[in-house]
Amino acid sequence: MNRRTSQGMLIAIMRPSHPLSWILQSSQYRRRPVADTLTKIMRSERMSLIKGSNTKPEMAVRRGLHKLGFRFRLHARNLAGRPDIVLPKYRAVIFVHGCFWHAHRCQRGRIPGTNAVFWKEKFLNNRRRDVRVARALRKDGWRVFKIWECQLRTPALREKSIAKVARLLRATPR
Ligand SMILES: [Zn+2]
Repeated sequence: MNRRTSQGMLIAIMRPSHPLSWILQSSQYRRRPVADTLTKIMRSERMSLIKGSNTKPEMAVRRGLHKLGFRFRLHARNLAGRPDIVLPKYRAVIFVHGCFWHAHRCQRGRIPGTNAVFWKEKFLNNRRRDVRVARALRKDGWRVFKIWECQLRTPALREKSIAKVARLLRATPR
């Protein structure tokens, strides 16, 4: 049995009521480090998360906004969720979200085939946290903007997405 098939089986018997569910407790899959199944890209994305942001997409947004004349603070620790970009003058914050980690409904946000259960749980938690954070910020009067990594994929997309946020920042009353 190759690894893919056995993983599929493992997921099929996840239900506690299933007669084979005991395998979950003893299985090697449970103990195998998750990092094994991460691709190189995911790994580097995860590393930049651990280092505390400054991801490539985030840098692109910063550069773009700066060029358009916006000035901002970064990773404000005193705000819920430590927003990536804070524009006090516009009473706005911007999160630049990686599609993978924040489970965007796009190609990049798809749940990996291996360890699907683990990922599903993880993504769900991330999503819930995002919602909680946005709610808390809005309650304090902040406008919350979100830019997805896939909206910054090409130079043309980048320009479009950043221009859109800039427009919204300037248009909406503070
Ligand atoms: Zn996406």
